[in-house]
Amino acid sequence: MASATSAITLLAAGAPQPRRWRPAVAYWGTAALHGAALAGAAWQPAWWPWLLGGCALNHAGVAALAFVPSNRLLGPVLARLPPDAPRDAIALTFDDGPDPAITPQVLDLLDAHQARATFFCVGAHARRHPQLVRQIAARGHAVENHSMNHGAMHGFLLPAQLAREVSAAQAVISDLTGTAPLFFRPPFGVRTPATEPVLSRLGLHCAQWSIRSLDAVDGNAARVARRVTSRLGAGDIVLLHDGLATGGRRGAPSVLIALPLILQALNARGLRSLTLRHACAAAQAA
Ligand SMILES: [Zn+2]
Repeated sequence: MASATSAITLLAAGAPQPRRWRPAVAYWGTAALHGAALAGAAWQPAWWPWLLGGCALNHAGVAALAFVPSNRLLGPVLARLPPDAPRDAIALTFDDGPDPAITPQVLDLLDAHQARATFFCVGAHARRHPQLVRQIAARGHAVENHSMNHGAMHGFLLPAQLAREVSAAQAVISDLTGTAPLFFRPPFGVRTPATEPVLSRLGLHCAQWSIRSLDAVDGNAARVARRVTSRLGAGDIVLLHDGLATGGRRGAPSVLIALPLILQALNARGLRSLTLRHACAAAQAA
């Protein structure tokens, strides 16, 4: 099983480096179980209902893994900063943008606290708002890949469809910023058995989170901020949103009220937010 640190060893090159896909535990376990079921059926044909049931349970287990963002059974994932990252570092991350009503305000709030963040942009939104994407990069933040369309059926894409989704966003963001993304965050955090083989081929690393703010669904900004600050410590990766889905029905989007509170808590605790690529590169240099 690859550790978070080994998963980012190729970051030193600064550009995506395709790597050989090494099947993780879930793949070997599934292959072994199906092999054993076939052998069992050949030896004792009457056992077939039990053997079939075992295989069905295995498939259900793999499907359930898709909803555990930090699990490593499907492949390496960055859910916290590597242990060698700067000791005062955390990473604020913003998904689903850019959005003309929200992203500029998020950028101003980050600037006011000298914080750097990682924006997992949706390729289609980036193409619609190219100036915003360039502005994110020009202000010292990182723009990474959150798929081209963020489709509701993302978890059901076939490997070739997933590869197209990731590659298309990669091309749009690379063209706009002049820098190719190094990280991919799956829409909804849902990884499938197809995810890691596709990312390996494209030289991308799966990045999830250790703290979920729920800012996209919770209109109570104080509660959103508390959800983050009550657990926040060095090494955490925080999931926030600057996309259209963000928001409370009452008043301003939660993220715009919660973010200053989170940034104040960071300062008070002597922590600083770095981009994922900066924190990982610093870890590698350590
Ligand atoms: Zn998303």
